[in-house]
Amino acid sequence: MLEKEIHFIKGIGPKKAEVIKNELGIETVEDLLYFGPRKYLDRSAFKAIKDTFANETVTVGGNVVDAVINGRNRKYLEVIIDDGTDTISGIFFNSLNYFKKIFTPGEFVLFSGNVEFYRQKQIVHPDFDFIDEDSRIKSINTGRVIPLYRSTEKLKKLGLDSRGFRRIIRSLIDSCIEFVNDPLNKSVLKKLSLMSLKEAIFSIHFPESLEAAESARRRLSFNELFFLQYYLAVSKKYTMEENLFSDERSINDTYYKDFIKSLPFDLTGDQQNAITEIETDLKNPFPMNRLLQGDVGSGKTLVSIAASLLAYGRGDQVAFMAPTEVLAVQHYDTLSQFIPSGINFALLKGNLSAKEKNAIYKDISEGNTDIIIGTHALIQEKVIFKKLGLIIIDEQHKFGVNQRAKLREKGKCTDLLIMTATPIPRSLSMTIYGDLDVSYIKEKPADRLPITTMSFPESKIRSVYNSIKKYISQGRQVYVVLPLIQESEKVDLKSAVQEYEKLKNDVFPERIVELLHGKMSSEEKETVMQKFKQGDTDILVSTTVIEVGVDVPNATIMVIEHAERFGLAQLHQLRGRVGRGKHQSFCALIYADNVSNESLERINTIVSLNDGFQISEQDLRQRGAGNIIGSRQHGYASGFEFADIVSDIDLIIEAKKEAEEIVSGIDNVHQKFDDLQKDLRLSPLLNGIRTKRVLSILS
Ligand code: ADP
Ligand code: MG
Repeated sequence: MLEKEIHFIKGIGPKKAEVIKNELGIETVEDLLYFGPRKYLDRSAFKAIKDTFANETVTVGGNVVDAVINGRNRKYLEVIIDDGTDTISGIFFNSLNYFKKIFTPGEFVLFSGNVEFYRQKQIVHPDFDFIDEDSRIKSINTGRVIPLYRSTEKLKKLGLDSRGFRRIIRSLIDSCIEFVNDPLNKSVLKKLSLMSLKEAIFSIHFPESLEAAESARRRLSFNELFFLQYYLAVSKKYTMEENLFSDERSINDTYYKDFIKSLPFDLTGDQQNAITEIETDLKNPFPMNRLLQGDVGSGKTLVSIAASLLAYGRGDQVAFMAPTEVLAVQHYDTLSQFIPSGINFALLKGNLSAKEKNAIYKDISEGNTDIIIGTHALIQEKVIFKKLGLIIIDEQHKFGVNQRAKLREKGKCTDLLIMTATPIPRSLSMTIYGDLDVSYIKEKPADRLPITTMSFPESKIRSVYNSIKKYISQGRQVYVVLPLIQESEKVDLKSAVQEYEKLKNDVFPERIVELLHGKMSSEEKETVMQKFKQGDTDILVSTTVIEVGVDVPNATIMVIEHAERFGLAQLHQLRGRVGRGKHQSFCALIYADNVSNESLERINTIVSLNDGFQISEQDLRQRGAGNIIGSRQHGYASGFEFADIVSDIDLIIEAKKEAEEIVSGIDNVHQKFDDLQKDLRLSPLLNGIRTKRVLSILS
């Protein structure tokens, strides 16, 4: 029943069904049952028109008095509504005739939006919804909330506005709710204080109160999270049991030990722990799937070198992947510095000749090269390893979702260590990386001082230049980062090239200023980075090509221009290029004088927080928060319909626990895994859990 296509539903028919499918992706009865309202209208959200103020976002409701087309040059439609206390106009600039038709005088309509005064009270392009007088009166008398559905102009033309959807879904629930299967038994529901699935589907559409709507959402959210965790737990158990290595995986750890001894400093406790965890994994009879999470500058590279040497000591080759060539080159240099002689390593980069490349491929396939470093080309090109044992992915968040999936695929029977400096909030890592083991590096090397971060409006940039002069004369180096390479006609932003000319010729003529950006050739980039690393360059003007990974401890000043153009995570990453040595470091965030409040808030967050984990939580909150009361919040990387990975962290934890408990009791996980892959509905447990959307997260 639930799989039936919606054109069978009374009141829909093939034509509407087609439009609904195209506009909303809804195909089946079940899809429609799970088509949650985009927001709810609560009695308390209404305002009398006379009580509204300019610049206030409100919902008002009244009867249409008139709908007239005005304007001499630019025509617009003015829809006047009256609620008995005052009138307000909805102003529309597009599809005038169409809108004129739908706002028939006498209809009761809701307008939501920002109130302005312009001759009269008005809202430009209001969100509008028709509700019948009846449900309005009901809502006022009983405190009932009204669901408002996502709709489009095409749908509205077919009568499928909120009111239309309410009617159809109401009758659909009446006829189909009995077919809904609850995958969770009563005791589990009770333990987690969740409502039944039938109740939840009813209440997500027709809740008695906003609280009831929220309880319904939580129940539906649990379904999604539970499925995801179940899927991840099955996959994990599957890899552990199915990919058993037949041989004992023993490691000759002399290479690793020599490397540690050669270091000029002691490992931090967290680095040591991470290495121990990795060593255990590398000896286990099933492949490692480990995420190494540590803030910028916490010393992840060393851990990965240790891992490489352990894998080498097991007799395997290692593939080490970085998202940018600049970073790959840096890793190669680091290896050159530390790797004991006798171990062969190579760098596969873009500017090699075909001949050079072929020689490297040959060495890899014959097993002459032990550690191979490169960008994702390493995996995509026809690189054939003789005995690939470990894949390391640095800054894995910089790889696209698809690339990541491919890499994981490649790593199925290989140990996998992925590293990220963008700290992922726990809730997110538990959803997306639920099948990975995680090592955390929380402490920074002992010699580090916290970075001092300050913000300045563009007009005060001179004072920043003055401080820069002082630190350069003390021997330090400076990054100046800009969002653009070249000046652009479209946006009024300073570009890297422009700023480079200015700093070099006008501001610091006596200093050495260099330029770095992504359009330069590999050679040029390498030369510039090399000079900067050696301390020959005082100021490096750059685009975000240096965003991740770059490590020059003597560079202690980071100036980010047009900081308002960058996101929180990016600002934190950029700032992380400094604070990597024993000297005090500074970060100056320069923002345009006409910066928006929202951007300024972001900048202030970076100024006040140094800890990447806190910043990432903040990031999630700022980006994920819905701003209309009663509206569903949209997740982050979310393919979820109902789950909100910020506020549902408790549900994520419960879902993981439940799922793992169930999965630990599965005897034939191989079968289960195949079932899941083949048809996600085959498993009786998953019957009733909507898997469609959630799977898009994993793909
Ligand atoms: P990230 O975690 O951002 O990748 P890196 O691995 O690039 O950080 O390390 C940052 C800097 O800290 C490097 O210059 C590295 O040599 C240095 N470093 C790493 N571990 C330690 C340590 N235990 N003590 C002192 N310095 C360290
Ligand atoms: Mg790094």
